[in-house]
Amino acid sequence: MKILLLGKNGQVGWELQRSLAPLGEVLALDQHSTSYCGDLTHLEGLADTVRLFKPNVVVNAAAYTAVDKAETDPETAHLVNALAPEVLSRACAAIGARLIHYSTDYVFDGSGQTPWVETDATGPLNAYGRSKLAGELGIAKQGAQHVIFRTSWVYGTEGGNFAKTMLRLAQEREKMTVINDQFGAPTGAALLADVTALTLQAPQPLSGIYHLAAAGVTTWFDYANHVLAKAKQLKPSLNYVVKEVLPVPTSEFPTPAQRPLNSRLHCGRLEQALQLQLPPWQTGVDQLLAKIL
Ligand code: NDP
Repeated sequence: MKILLLGKNGQVGWELQRSLAPLGEVLALDQHSTSYCGDLTHLEGLADTVRLFKPNVVVNAAAYTAVDKAETDPETAHLVNALAPEVLSRACAAIGARLIHYSTDYVFDGSGQTPWVETDATGPLNAYGRSKLAGELGIAKQGAQHVIFRTSWVYGTEGGNFAKTMLRLAQEREKMTVINDQFGAPTGAALLADVTALTLQAPQPLSGIYHLAAAGVTTWFDYANHVLAKAKQLKPSLNYVVKEVLPVPTSEFPTPAQRPLNSRLHCGRLEQALQLQLPPWQTGVDQLLAKIL
């Protein structure tokens, strides 16, 4: 199998380099690659890459993920998150390649308290969400065989993440405040990458949109408490100065982009299609902590 991986150095892209490696020949690119164009703002170059490399599968882990910045730069967000995936889908359709792409619970409006299913009405609250939704629609319109995984609250070992921030703050501040009215499931980039590899090996090909997040639900506040409790167990020698972690509503942390309160994703469609059981969110977070501490 020939696989073209875009966005190789992002959280998910990094893990995909690992999980896709045993499946065949992988050409992994980022926006600065020179052998082939891997820049999602360069639409013609991107289409040329697919045409020249002739992959069986394109896995697109590249995205404009700066949620707040997208409010003041919606054009670039749209270019990278909507137009580029559409171009990829057209290029894949032309050569009969499959496209695997990642999207987000931010396509929903965050209302209610039940997990979103794939067919629920969308209604993004911010520019990033609108650009990701446009990407989903563009991919479907161009007709490539595709799988789109909508996920939530992604963390990886590379770069910054919520757990690392909590660990740092716990060593700097006596009092921390954390949002307790947004609900979702922290999902490891490694899990996303592993399920992507399983998808490529599935005897019955998957098609369309699938929700993919770790099992269970939490808030950022409970997530922070879990991280701190586990960290104290794993590394008691760290200088934890924090005495109080206080729950606060989203309104205490105003940001340029509005965040959805309900990020719960129902993943039954995927679990059934792949005959798998997604692990509880704590499993991946505990592994992350064991790695970084
Ligand atoms: P990251 O921000 O870690 O990675 C995105 C990658 O895309 C980065 O390596 C970035 O490169 C690259 N990129 C940005 N612009 C371009 C461009 N013009 N051309 C090529 N590459 C570009 O994101 P994640 O790995 O966390 O996200 C993977 C997918 O999951 C995305 O589709 C995202 O929308 C989705 N998702 C993410 C969530 C999250 O919480 N992070 C939640 C839900 C969905 P550079 O760093 O050099 O800019």
